[in-house]
Amino acid sequence: MNAAELGPSARYAGYRPEQPIPLGPLHKRPLQLGKVAKSLFGFPGIFLPWNAFFFGLAFIEWHYFLPDESRLKIFSADWIVTLALCNLVTLVTFATAQHVWLYGRKSQGTEYKYNSAWLATGNSTFMFGSQLWDNVFWNICSAVPFWTAYEVLTLWLQANGYVPTASWQEHPIYCTSLILVISVWIDLHFYLTHRLLHWQPLYKTVHYLHHKNANFGPWSGVAMHPVEHLIFFSSILLFWVLPANTLLTLYMLQIFGIAPSLAHVGFERLMFGKERSLSVDNYMHYLHHKHVNVNFGNSVEFLPFDKWMGTFHDGSDQAAEALKNRMLARAARKRASRARKSA
Ligand SMILES: [Zn+2]
Ligand SMILES: [Zn+2]
Repeated sequence: MNAAELGPSARYAGYRPEQPIPLGPLHKRPLQLGKVAKSLFGFPGIFLPWNAFFFGLAFIEWHYFLPDESRLKIFSADWIVTLALCNLVTLVTFATAQHVWLYGRKSQGTEYKYNSAWLATGNSTFMFGSQLWDNVFWNICSAVPFWTAYEVLTLWLQANGYVPTASWQEHPIYCTSLILVISVWIDLHFYLTHRLLHWQPLYKTVHYLHHKNANFGPWSGVAMHPVEHLIFFSSILLFWVLPANTLLTLYMLQIFGIAPSLAHVGFERLMFGKERSLSVDNYMHYLHHKHVNVNFGNSVEFLPFDKWMGTFHDGSDQAAEALKNRMLARAARKRASRARKSA
């Protein structure tokens, strides 16, 4: 599916960053350790501000709403419903805040907006004829249940000692380093599963649903087919093998549950007044939704798979030209194959 097939809104030009998307400093030579450290611990960096915010949310949930381990050993409606409500409220609040501010009140107009069109209405591509309500439906009716199910199962396995665990008190350095491991793992898991979802049988039956949002908004993040949710939230299976704990479990799933909302906000920067703004930096994934056959990865910070596999679109004219040539070559191969079959 390309922009032309997705209706006029997908083709509207909007903000385009002046600089191509840079590779992370780990992949620049000579290696500059200062820049690597800044990308990890600086502001903005891997952890600040967004992952710190997600960790804070996970901590609040862990501290105030998660029962002690003895209760987690037994499946029980009270704590399962509590966790489901936590996930629901967090996602609804986070996505609604962005939507109301940027798409409802249009507080910064189309400034820094990648696609100058707004979300589709009166469009039969989407359920209820509305991109927003279609997206909300998949978030609430599929994403939250899958997110909660993986969470409940993992916490139960950890509480019963059926999977390895490591506590902050006994292994503070190991547990802290897992925060970084999670960031690398997310890049790896997202890339591999996303490539799988672009395998044509899965794309046509499952992943197409997410790609209906060529021009996306905050509710598009986890607007996915249930099979995609099953694959997407399976990232937590890492903690079925690697020793972790309840807080890290909530944290990783928090990232998968609500970070996509921010990654699909559709703006390069969020403005606070005329002077101050905060980078969201989701152009790489915007280009994936726009062109479909590029940027399968989450970022080019730790594991720049797209760069390695020749599918990286950094937003430059050269990358656009390379993509055009790849598409022409692919179309020529398909024509030749069809001609061979009919001969
Ligand atoms: Zn995709
Ligand atoms: Zn997406």
